[in-house]
Amino acid sequence: MTQKDIRPDLGLRPIVNVSGTMTSLGASIVVPEAVAAVSAILPQFVEIGDLQKKASRVIARLCGTEAGFVTASCSAGITLAVAGAMTGCDLAAVERLPDTTGLKNEVLLMTGHMVSYGAPVEQGIRLAGAKVVPVGQATSAYGYQLNGAINERTAAAVYVISHHTVQYGLIPLKEFVEICHARGVPVIVDAASEYDLKGFLATGADIALYSSHKFLGGLTAGIVAGNTELVRATYMQNMGIGRGMKVGKEGILGTIAALDAWEKRDHAGIRERETRYLELWEQTLSGRPGVTPIREADPTNNPLDRLKVAIEPKGAHITAWDLADALASGRTPIIVRDHEVEHGYFYLDPCNLHPGQEAIVAERLVEELENARQSNEIIATPLETRRNRSYQAIMRWPD
Ligand SMILES: *Cc1c(COP(=O)(O)O)cnc(C)c1O
Repeated sequence: MTQKDIRPDLGLRPIVNVSGTMTSLGASIVVPEAVAAVSAILPQFVEIGDLQKKASRVIARLCGTEAGFVTASCSAGITLAVAGAMTGCDLAAVERLPDTTGLKNEVLLMTGHMVSYGAPVEQGIRLAGAKVVPVGQATSAYGYQLNGAINERTAAAVYVISHHTVQYGLIPLKEFVEICHARGVPVIVDAASEYDLKGFLATGADIALYSSHKFLGGLTAGIVAGNTELVRATYMQNMGIGRGMKVGKEGILGTIAALDAWEKRDHAGIRERETRYLELWEQTLSGRPGVTPIREADPTNNPLDRLKVAIEPKGAHITAWDLADALASGRTPIIVRDHEVEHGYFYLDPCNLHPGQEAIVAERLVEELENARQSNEIIATPLETRRNRSYQAIMRWPD
């Protein structure tokens, strides 16, 4: 870190993030190009429509499509794109939302895609006034079910690309698009965390949505990309329900700068650096009783691996979740990726580290594993207790 760490002055814990690009942890390390662009524009007035036109050209270039704009978040993008599919460029209808009287208002979503990224995907759809029509069952969906769900009220279909969704048994995007397009239904792809800026649109999606603040290292914002007609109708929602999802000049320019930087980034070099981190952690952990480190590819094929740390409590004298909690406490809290921890493992994600933090992660792993080994009993908090604790913490806010 070149700059002073201001977190202690703010009374905030100096966490090290091996969890991923999480909104709850401050998303990502904003790239220097975005930081510079944002501080240069903040004191100036700009014509936002013109700045969004510039964003459109940059988004179109990077996403291999016609147009785009920046909104508050990918989540906002879901709501706005659904709204755009319902209203088209009818400004009176834009102002009437979320009242959808007289409009097509049904939106198809596979049941296996009804996930939460911190808020429910389907709520983002309903927020526009649309009605969600589930397609298929939790772990299966077929073309005939999608086709059978389309009717004269169908406004759009939403498709989610994410590790959160069910990863098998569902309709592949290509087939999904073919069925929807054969019936004149536009397809909106939520690709918030996906590095592939072109592939989903190239497969036929009408709109692809990305987060600016995840892998791109932009400001907190969302990117809407796609064909001009639907992007324009989506952009118009800024005069309606999109107002509460407003992005300022800093978010728009921060996104443009992050996209420009992404185009020039040394992706291979970054991958190499991340691989070195994984190797260090693997060496640190292998041979320790009850600990099995396994390198694993990203579930949605983003070009990144994580280290899966499987914990066998009898050998390690601690459960995976108690180890995660121990790492997250103390003077240097390490926040691991623990969304599947009830299976007895967590992940270390190498994407969000400042140089040198990989060594801190290794030291803290050793420290907490050795502490646990010295315990005569196996440290094993019941899972329900841990779940209740996080629920109670939410309910206690701001205390
Ligand atoms: C993060 C995420 C979102 C939300 O993105 P924001 O830009 O933070 O609103 C939506 N969908 C998926 C699949 C995500 O991973």
